Amino acid sequence: MSAGERAREYDAFMSERETGSGVSADGSGNAQAALNNNRWEPAKTDVDDAAGEQPRGEREHPHGQIAAETPERFTGLSVRTPKRAAAGFPAVYRATQYVFSHAGVMRGSAALRVLNQKGGIDCMSCAWPEPDGDRSFAEFCENGAKAIGHELDKARCGPEFFAKHSISELSQESDYWLEQQGRLTHPMLLRAGATHYEPVSWEHAIGLIAEKLNALASPDEAVFYTSGRASNEAAFCYQLFVRQFGTNNLPDCSNMCHESSGSALSATLGVGKGTVTLEDFQKTQAIFIIGQNPGTNHPRMLTTLEHAKEKGVKIVVINPLREAGLIGFMNPQEALGLLGKATPLADLHLPVRINGDIAVIKGIMKLMLEGEDRQRGSAFDWNFIEQRTHGVDALLENIRATSWDQILADSGIPRDLIEQAAKVAMESDRMICCWAMGLTQQNNAVETIQEIVNLLLLRGSMGKPGAGACPVRGHSNVQGDRTMGIWERPRPQFLDALEKNFAFQPPREHGYDAVESIKAMHEGKVKLFFQLGGNFLSATPDTLFTAEALEKVDLAVRVGTKLNRTDVVAGKMNLILPCLGRSEIDRRAAGEQFVTTENSMGVIQQSCGRFEPAGDQLRSETAIICEIARATLGNRTNVPWAQWAENYDLVREAIARTIVGCEDYNRKVRQPGGYYLPNKARDNEYITDTGRANFTVNPIPQRDLKPDQLVMMTIRSHDQFNTTIYGLDDRYRGIFGERRVIFMNRQDMSDRNLRERDVVDVTSHFRDQTRQVRKFIAVGYDIPRGNCAMYFPEANVLVPIGSTANRSNQPASKYVVVTVGKRE
Ligand code: SF4
Repeated sequence: MSAGERAREYDAFMSERETGSGVSADGSGNAQAALNNNRWEPAKTDVDDAAGEQPRGEREHPHGQIAAETPERFTGLSVRTPKRAAAGFPAVYRATQYVFSHAGVMRGSAALRVLNQKGGIDCMSCAWPEPDGDRSFAEFCENGAKAIGHELDKARCGPEFFAKHSISELSQESDYWLEQQGRLTHPMLLRAGATHYEPVSWEHAIGLIAEKLNALASPDEAVFYTSGRASNEAAFCYQLFVRQFGTNNLPDCSNMCHESSGSALSATLGVGKGTVTLEDFQKTQAIFIIGQNPGTNHPRMLTTLEHAKEKGVKIVVINPLREAGLIGFMNPQEALGLLGKATPLADLHLPVRINGDIAVIKGIMKLMLEGEDRQRGSAFDWNFIEQRTHGVDALLENIRATSWDQILADSGIPRDLIEQAAKVAMESDRMICCWAMGLTQQNNAVETIQEIVNLLLLRGSMGKPGAGACPVRGHSNVQGDRTMGIWERPRPQFLDALEKNFAFQPPREHGYDAVESIKAMHEGKVKLFFQLGGNFLSATPDTLFTAEALEKVDLAVRVGTKLNRTDVVAGKMNLILPCLGRSEIDRRAAGEQFVTTENSMGVIQQSCGRFEPAGDQLRSETAIICEIARATLGNRTNVPWAQWAENYDLVREAIARTIVGCEDYNRKVRQPGGYYLPNKARDNEYITDTGRANFTVNPIPQRDLKPDQLVMMTIRSHDQFNTTIYGLDDRYRGIFGERRVIFMNRQDMSDRNLRERDVVDVTSHFRDQTRQVRKFIAVGYDIPRGNCAMYFPEANVLVPIGSTANRSNQPASKYVVVTVGKRE
């Protein structure tokens, strides 16, 4: 069955299930309707008040009471035994099925041949790097194949589509259905009070944006969001335009994924990025994978882990769920892998309670300290500590003061498992710690990551081959966008360089991050919201609150390749600007252009579109930004925007003049495979306040849960990438045909008189507020007691806007206190 047929089938199924839901009274497709029509149904929500997170009381559900449904009606869900290994033939089958059904067999095959090859197309999905040397003939994973198939979609979503479907109708469709409608082909405008989007010319669209921007009382009334797919060239132009316009309101998706890593690593190591290369994985002795699910979110990492295993590297996994990709890997590029033979990956799995990671790491360090007390030098690298670090005494004092009772109670891990993990650490002179959003989306995320740094520093596992920190980025150029200056809190040195090179006074006050932007929109402080890619509403927490915030904006503009949820939650006026995908040929006056990106390990390389664009109206993100900048800034800029729009070498020359590490950029990015950005911590130099790598003291958090409460984390299925849903299956976890499930510990289910597939409502609790989603299906799963999991973005409704990480302000989507009630 094709993806399109699946989308229709799903829609029919959901329509039957949700009969009568979702059309707003005025037909305007307002936020509440959009949410209900997305089948999230936040029936009861007390959310942060604009002025300061005051509860606002229960809201009316627009459809009144919805009749209770029997579990039997959820016929779409099939639950099977979770897999014990990832990839293999099913991955190949699913990848080719998706790419061929969307892009066609010829184009799909051609695209896969150049995906992630030197001089080819950089995968638009995650940010896992390619090898420096020779690359395999198939240097991609199932997700990468789906991403390029999704982008090269044969279907079109043009003016006829929008003439046929009102915004109210569109708002009733699922996210899955919206993205299945194909590539956007024309600039489309939803005028104030209109029921339908209508096509407009580029001149009209750009003129409208310039006019609205220039009419603002202050540049700070505009917010400019960036998705991690934007190229370095587009990102550099964008931040320069925004700062010449006069604001630092540059939130990005990094605010939602690895902001906490940046905060923790900058303070401790003096660099906001990871410190290892792909080669280090072959030189290490132990890899700790913490709060990360590479089998689904960074699948080619499994090949790296397999090669490491062949060299005898020990892999320790600290994660609440026993994910298939961490247990075993069936390499689809090898005959035995295709036939189902798996390489075991994890030597040890510690099924930590959600947010029990600090306790586990502290336990490991406590055992190391006990070893040191018996014999100095048996566990710590004192040479490294004395020469390169600062603050070890305070850390050791804290470790001594932390009791085993506290460690065991908080982590939920028996001592013998922590001892086995500590043994691996103590036997490894070279150790890598990897993590992802399981850690970064916690209230104490920065502290947790700092605790990982403590562990690495005690072992001297930093600044040498085979050792270091590896935050694994989720979106292909999220790291590059930051390097190019997309940040609401730019460093003074960066602004100085802009000032010197472009002869203007950049704003020095910090701008809004993603959460602050939502709150500012909600308070009516933001009149224009510009989105360079992404699906802001589905990516951000507290969906109803965010939808209400978006509704208050005078003009919302989104540059994108496909229709998504954010487009159907109307601001007063909405504008969609269709852009080229990374896989498409970008023809400008100076010839065909390429762009550059930076992967998770600081390699910058080029990406060259190879395929005819989906329509003759499409423009590149770089060109769109340059044209808007020219129209908006007029004679307030000395940047030759018109020339930059036609020749990206000129943009790269400006990057080379401005950004440390990008000198001689045009030449270096043309080298096959690109080049590594400098990374002082990798070279054992630490540009911190002390001039050394800093140890820190990070307390185990205090819990305050009521007996009936659980901690919920949001997770992604194997059939999705970020907010893009490719299908309704999560085959590694054994879930098929449905996403509205809640994974629960079986004892927790029994305590609540829940049986398999009972239909439940889930209520989150934050301060004195509650939020609720209804009609999810309870599925018993191997998850620690007291914990549960639900899919992102459906469960974002439950994530309070006010619950964020200390210091980084990253939404705490992986620590949501909930109660689960059976629907009668
Ligand atoms: S691992 Fe990530 S970057 Fe590589 S092909 Fe898969 S999704 Fe793309």
